[in-house]
Amino acid sequence: MITVMKFGGTSVGSLEAIERVSKIVLDTEGDKVVVTSAMSGITNFLVACCEDRINKRDETLDAFEKKHLEVAKTMLDDAQYQEFLKEFQPRMDAFTALLYDDTAADNPFYKDNVTSQGERFSSLLLCHKLRALGHKSVALTSEDCGIVAEGRPLSGNANLRMTETNMGINVLPYIAKGYIPIITGFYGINKDDLPLTFGRGGSDYAAAVVANALNADMLEIWTDVDGFMSADPRVVPAAVKIDEMSYAEAAELAYFGAKVLHPRTIEPVRKKHIPLKVRNSFRPEEKGTLISRYRESHNELLRSVASKCDLSIISISSPEVAYRPDIVAKILGKISENDDAIYSISTSLSNVAFLIDNNDVKATLMKLNELDNDEVERIDVESDVALICCVGDHLMGQSGTCGDIFSAVKEVGANVNMISEGASSVALNFVVPNGDVLPVIKILHKKFVEE
Ligand code: ASP
Ligand code: MG
Repeated sequence: MITVMKFGGTSVGSLEAIERVSKIVLDTEGDKVVVTSAMSGITNFLVACCEDRINKRDETLDAFEKKHLEVAKTMLDDAQYQEFLKEFQPRMDAFTALLYDDTAADNPFYKDNVTSQGERFSSLLLCHKLRALGHKSVALTSEDCGIVAEGRPLSGNANLRMTETNMGINVLPYIAKGYIPIITGFYGINKDDLPLTFGRGGSDYAAAVVANALNADMLEIWTDVDGFMSADPRVVPAAVKIDEMSYAEAAELAYFGAKVLHPRTIEPVRKKHIPLKVRNSFRPEEKGTLISRYRESHNELLRSVASKCDLSIISISSPEVAYRPDIVAKILGKISENDDAIYSISTSLSNVAFLIDNNDVKATLMKLNELDNDEVERIDVESDVALICCVGDHLMGQSGTCGDIFSAVKEVGANVNMISEGASSVALNFVVPNGDVLPVIKILHKKFVEE
């Protein structure tokens, strides 16, 4: 039985946190593989260094070295510390060389390389802590493992098939010999052998990729909250933790706002039916949320409501949308040239509407202006709207459900600007102005979760 355990930045952010996490790892039965984020704050710090590398590099290297060595010195005895330094120093030298390499700085993947450095050191700390406790452990970078990434800088995708082959060769033998591998999250290696990160917060996804590659029996994402909640507890104090969810429900919620999991974490484990648990490393006695293929069907209408603010509706009028699918294809093609996320699409006889981030509006309009006038009659933009995502078993199946939900929305006087239902059988999404989000979430939770 292999359990892949991922620890986020706060879970490895201090000496105490690393000690707590070591205990969690050792208390887990069977074979364990750990994937870790950088210590909390480190990635932000590295991002800042990239913006002003020449001026900031010395100060960055100093602070970086000091932070990791301080933890190592406190938790290891002299002999163990010397062993730690043997692995630490080459990594630190490589990082120093990277910040001083002015030709490397011109490479489009340079920022991926610099920002992925934190994971290489947090994994080393955790590995040596486990060794100090008398266990066999090995710190492996994504390079060592052969985690293959593809795509553009700062937004890589894993190649699951190649990663599985590589990890079978590079990691499974360690597990067979009783080692606990500690693997760097956040990035893989592209075809030129350069680090390519999976986007901010991407260690969750990296852990799912590792679980997929090793055909793990379980993926545990250890973070600093108890699991998925029925709503954001800062908005709705009566929010409750959700014990079990399906992959589809968790994917919708993660994508549309709940900040518990990186939205892309579900896919690699869903492909192999590997169950996933979200756990709180500060409260290991809590059972967390179990996400899997099977979950008992309950009778509730709504399991959770989440939101995503600061979006814009781009509405394109074009006389014959319904009869000319080629126009829809052209519009979509244009918008996707920017590679920005599209949160929802709806079409009618003479209109196509898209939901995108406020920040992507300018670039999107520039693309749309390249289309011919006979294809696009008019473009309207409505900014500062929010997507409300309602997730539940019976949202789509049961008659009258939508009516009940929208009546509640009407009670707080919110105006619904766009609806997308039915695309996923477990979610009902609609758009309201930013300012209406709080009252809408509160009333939906009160009526359909609390009552
Ligand atoms: N350390 C990376 C970040 O802060 C990846 C992660 O924590 O998931 O974005
Ligand atoms: Mg995270």
